[in-house]
Amino acid sequence: MKKTTRVIRQHDSYDEIGGKKVRTLNPPRYSGSTILFDSYEDFLQANAGSYPGVCYGTDRLPTQRAFEEALVEFEGGALCRAFPSGMSAITHTLLAFARSGDQVLVCENSYFPTLNFCRKILTQYDVEIGLIPAAVGADIENYIKDNTRLIFLESPGSNTFEIQDIPAITQIAKARNVITVLDNTWATPLYLQPFELGVDISMQSVTKYISGHSDLLLGAVTVNQQYARQFAKFYRIMEVHAATDDCYQALRGLKTLAVRLRHHEKAALKLAHWLQTQNLIDKVIHPALESHPQHALWKRDFKGSSGLFAFTFTRDYSDTELAAFMNALQLFGIGYSWGGFKSLITAGCYPRKAGLVTANKTVIRLNVGLEDYEDLREDLKQALTRLAC
Ligand SMILES: *Cc1c(COP(=O)(O)O)cnc(C)c1O
Repeated sequence: MKKTTRVIRQHDSYDEIGGKKVRTLNPPRYSGSTILFDSYEDFLQANAGSYPGVCYGTDRLPTQRAFEEALVEFEGGALCRAFPSGMSAITHTLLAFARSGDQVLVCENSYFPTLNFCRKILTQYDVEIGLIPAAVGADIENYIKDNTRLIFLESPGSNTFEIQDIPAITQIAKARNVITVLDNTWATPLYLQPFELGVDISMQSVTKYISGHSDLLLGAVTVNQQYARQFAKFYRIMEVHAATDDCYQALRGLKTLAVRLRHHEKAALKLAHWLQTQNLIDKVIHPALESHPQHALWKRDFKGSSGLFAFTFTRDYSDTELAAFMNALQLFGIGYSWGGFKSLITAGCYPRKAGLVTANKTVIRLNVGLEDYEDLREDLKQALTRLAC
């Protein structure tokens, strides 16, 4: 049975009323700080750390567990834990594994707050940070040192869309006993299966496609068998709490993810192809286009593409000129984040050492939502006329 079918099933614990089960399709939303024990004996067992049930509100209530279990089914791996945001998932993963004296290698196209946390916080704990090129592959060998503990990858990067050769990296990392972590938010587990490519730990900003409606923040980390015990223990000690309502919405999101993603994918590809034909546009940066420098890697490793991509203009426009274009858009909102139903636009400069795709040009990023493709194209078309002169 396909994962997308398995996720659409009834939950199996029900209250009874009048001797009959109340069989809702969705699970109840458990919330609570205090969880009562049946007896003093159970309480003593909890004190001793050997109570098998839920002891407290931070002990992963059933709604959270249901989401984590569903995500493990999608992503693979041995164990999943939910976090209050994607960023919280990232910082906790790095703190769980990096130790004083270690080196952590981070891909230079990673989400900016990830890089910022490494540079500003991890270094305070005497963790050395090394930057690796956005399109790193077997050359990872040149960056691994005796004290390298962990490699953090994001493929494709969510602003500049370089792809890393994940199997080449994980093969070398395994031989050198280095942990690999992948930020798999762009592809979601439906379009990239990280554990099949040898990744040890995969994370999702659930805020994006899995939640899909721009109304919550949530993160998730899935780890393989090798690191499951260590990560579960760390999570428990940190007393992380992911809100029940957010886990509930995320579980609901998983059920419609495949259908939504297919729409995002198709509309984004059509827009990308159309943008390529426009005079004002220089490069369209989308891994599923043959013009993308690592298109072959994308084709080999990914099962599809999502709705986030970018383009650059032929000319360098001033902010005032760009404002005329951005402000003219009716359907694309100007705002951070992505993966939701509404189309969004952002712009930025991303100087990369290995400057593959973008050099120092302004990169315009589109989050293609669930609107009709033709409406989105017409919106871009009319806004582009503001730049033509
Ligand atoms: C948004 C994002 C995050 C952080 O997720 P939040 O839930 O917003 O904290 C991490 N990685 C990538 C690639 C993202 O786009």
